[in-house]
Amino acid sequence: MGGFKIDIGWVNLAYVVASVLFINGLKGLTHPRTAVRGNLTSAVGMLLAVVVTLLANGLDYTWILVGAVIGGLVGAVAATRVQMTQMPEMVALFNGFGGGASVLVAGAAFLIASEPDAQMTVSTGLSGLIGSVTFTGSMIAFLKLAEIMPGRQLGFPGIKAFNALMGLGALGCVAWLTVDPTAVLAYWLIVAIAAVLGVTLTIPIGGADMPVVISLLNSYSGLAAAATGFVLMNNVLIIAGSLVGASGIILTRIMCKAMNRSLTNVLFGTMGPSADGPSADDVYGGKVKATSPDEVAMMLETAQRVLVVPGYGLAVAQAQHIVRDMANILESRGITVEYGIHPVAGRMPGHMNVLLAEADVPYDKLREMDDINNEISQIDVCMVVGANDVVNPAARTDPKSPIAGMPIIDVDKARTVVVVKRSLSPGFAGIPNPLFAMDNCLMMFGDGKKALTELVHALKEG
Ligand code: NDP
Repeated sequence: MGGFKIDIGWVNLAYVVASVLFINGLKGLTHPRTAVRGNLTSAVGMLLAVVVTLLANGLDYTWILVGAVIGGLVGAVAATRVQMTQMPEMVALFNGFGGGASVLVAGAAFLIASEPDAQMTVSTGLSGLIGSVTFTGSMIAFLKLAEIMPGRQLGFPGIKAFNALMGLGALGCVAWLTVDPTAVLAYWLIVAIAAVLGVTLTIPIGGADMPVVISLLNSYSGLAAAATGFVLMNNVLIIAGSLVGASGIILTRIMCKAMNRSLTNVLFGTMGPSADGPSADDVYGGKVKATSPDEVAMMLETAQRVLVVPGYGLAVAQAQHIVRDMANILESRGITVEYGIHPVAGRMPGHMNVLLAEADVPYDKLREMDDINNEISQIDVCMVVGANDVVNPAARTDPKSPIAGMPIIDVDKARTVVVVKRSLSPGFAGIPNPLFAMDNCLMMFGDGKKALTELVHALKEG
C-alpha cells in the first residue's frame, strides 16, 4: 500500500497551519474554560502534521498504519483508565517515549544519510544525548511515582562528580561525531552514556519532587524533538519541539516559584523537615479542637460567604463530587461558595482545576491564590479539604521552616476555618501545621469523601 506523494509547497503550507493550531491550542490551555478546546485544537494540528509528513514522503503505509492503530489503542486505553492521581506517572511515560522516539528517528536518519553534513551530525548528537537522558530519566521518574522504586533519595558517594564526568564524556562524543561524521560508534556512545546519566541524575531526587522533574523532562523531550527536526530538516518538528521545550521550562519555573524553591534546590537539594524545627507535640499539644459534621452544618447555615480550599487529600479521597453537592445545597440557600486554588495544591499543576472541572464546578467560582487572599478576612467559613502545606502559616511566620517564603492561601485569616483530613499527619513537606492549633480552626477528622457525605446529610436534615 502507498506510493502517493504530495508537493512540498502544500506540505509547508500544511505545516504552517499545523503550527498555528499548536500555538492556538497552547493559548487555549492557559485557562480551564478553554483548555479542552485547546487540547483538541493541538491534537488536530498534530494529526494534520503527521498525515502530511507521511504523504510528503510517498512511503509504504502498511506498517505505519499498523503501528498507528496499535499505538493509538494503547494510548486511548491508558488515557481512559488512568486515575487523576496517576496522571504524573502517565505524563512521565509519555515524555520518556517522546525522548526515545527522537533517539531512534535521528539515529536512523543519520545511519541512512550518505554524506551527513555538520548540521546533521551536531543535531543527531544532541538528539541522541537529550533524548536518551529524557528516556531513562522519565522511566526512573515513573518508577518512583508508581512506588515500584523507593521514592527516597538514592545514589552513591561522588554521584555529582560522576554525573559531571559523564556529561563531559557525552559532549566529547558529540564533538567527535561532528569532526568525524562517519563515526557511528560515537553516536551509540552518546546514547549509552546519556542513558546512564538519565538514571544517575534522577535517582538522587526524592519521589515527591518528581512532578517538577517531569515538567523539566517534558521540556527536554521537546528539545530532543526540535534537534531531530534539524536532523530531518522538518519544519513542523522544529516548531513543535521548540514549543514543548519552552512551555515545559516555563511550567518548571512556575512550579518552583510556587514552592519558593530554586530549580537547583529541587534537582540537587533536599526537601524535608529540619532537625531543629518544632515537633508536632510543640505545635499541637492540647490546642487542637475537633468538630463534627452536625456542628459544621450549623456553622455553614449561618454563613454568608464560604470558601473551599482543596488540596492533595481531595484527590486521594475523590471528594470533588461531594464538595460540589455541598456547594449546591449552600448556594440554594443564598450562601456564596467559592474555591481558593493554590498553584501547587495536589501533586501536579492544575490538579485541583481538573478535579473540580470533573465535578462540573463552574470555572468562575475558582479564585486564584493572590486574588482570594485579598478578600480572605471577609470569608465566614473556610473549608480546607485535604490541603495542608498550601495553607500552612509557618511559610509566612517561621523563617526557619522548610517552606518559609512559599506563598500560601491565608485561610487562617478567615473568620472560621474547618479542616477536613484524617489525622494530624503532615503533608508533602513533612512538617506540622500551626493552623490546626489556632483559635479559629476546627478539625473535622475523617476521610474527605466520608466526612463531607455526613456533612451533606446534616445540611439536608438541618
Ligand atoms: P499536602 O501534601 O500538603 O497535604 C495533603 C493532606 O491530605 C495530608 O495532610 C493528608 O492528611 C490529607 N489526606 C490524604 N488523604 C486524605 C483523605 N482520603 N481524606 C482527607 N484528607 C486526606 O497537600 P497540599 O495540596 O496542601 O500541598 C501540595 C504539596 O505538594 C505542596 O507541598 C507542594 O509544594 C507539593 N508539590 C506539588 C506539586 C504540584 O505540581 N501540585 C508538585 C510537587 C510537589 P491525613 O493523612 O491526615 O488525612
